[in-house]
Amino acid sequence: MTPLLLDGRKASQALLESLKKDVASLNPSLTVVQVGDDPASTSYIAQKMKSCDTVGMRHEHRHLPADTTLEDLFAVIEELNTNPDVTGFIVQLPLPVHLSQYVPQVIRAINPMKDVDGFCAYNLGKMFLSKEFEHLPPATPSGVMQLLAFYDIEIEGKDVVVVGHSNTVGKPLSTMFLNRNATVTTCHIHTKDLARHTREADILAVAVGKPGLISADMVKEGAVVVDIGITKTESGLKGDVDFDSVSQKASAITPVPGGVGPMTVASLIRNCVRAKQRQLESEKSENSF
Ligand code: NAP
Repeated sequence: MTPLLLDGRKASQALLESLKKDVASLNPSLTVVQVGDDPASTSYIAQKMKSCDTVGMRHEHRHLPADTTLEDLFAVIEELNTNPDVTGFIVQLPLPVHLSQYVPQVIRAINPMKDVDGFCAYNLGKMFLSKEFEHLPPATPSGVMQLLAFYDIEIEGKDVVVVGHSNTVGKPLSTMFLNRNATVTTCHIHTKDLARHTREADILAVAVGKPGLISADMVKEGAVVVDIGITKTESGLKGDVDFDSVSQKASAITPVPGGVGPMTVASLIRNCVRAKQRQLESEKSENSF
């Protein structure tokens, strides 16, 4: 079977194209705060800035030195929280080692109305209510939903297995599938027999960071396979799914790179537009955010 390739570059271009009109009329902006010089972060930020350019959106890369103190980082966050010209901002993760233990506090310091990564408890909690409350969803799970929608892949009634239960990818992704009426199983490091679950999946989404974790014998014939993992190896970027063997069985599959990655960036841009729309609405009504 030749599977349908779920091309995130193509789908993200379509999404970005659809956002241009709103960007032109609303004039939102994105600021990315980077602390230190993690090479992967530098490359991700470059992609985000490039996508801002594609849609004509204002953007700023606030690059802080690696030895920035927590107090200095909080001061930058407070300035961005209160600057009316900044629609949304993110603090690029990971933070340097001396700050990494404070990630929850850093996320909590961001004004939920400007939290375009969708990582704060307020925005995650809203997602928990229903699909209609996914106002600023985390960019990667949101990108997965939009990729599946672009290729008309039905979710309702499907058996979905999500591997990985991080707060930024696996858990919100499971919630978004549940919001679309899938029957969802979430697996993680403590799952006793991973293959027993993955073999049942109509849609299998994997977000772990272990190249080759999912082999063909763990996948049902005809399954839709979404590989979110990205690991830099000596032979290039690798996903969690053994693409060559699994694509012999899957009906549709994402490549790595070029699958979920570009959708994540496009979803971040979409969140900036949404944040601006909701900020304007909340200026009119106290309770609209
Ligand atoms: P993370 O926080 O490290 O979470 C990994 C998850 O996988 C955890 O829930 C972990 O469980 C679970 N896990 C670890 N080993 C496992 C195993 N052998 N079997 C089943 N589950 C296992 O990572 P993340 O931030 O969610 O990211 C996951 C992957 O997606 C990474 O490769 C990351 O680079 C990639 N990613 C890609 C994009 C994109 O745009 N494509 C965006 C974000 C992340 P425990 O916590 O219990 O150990």
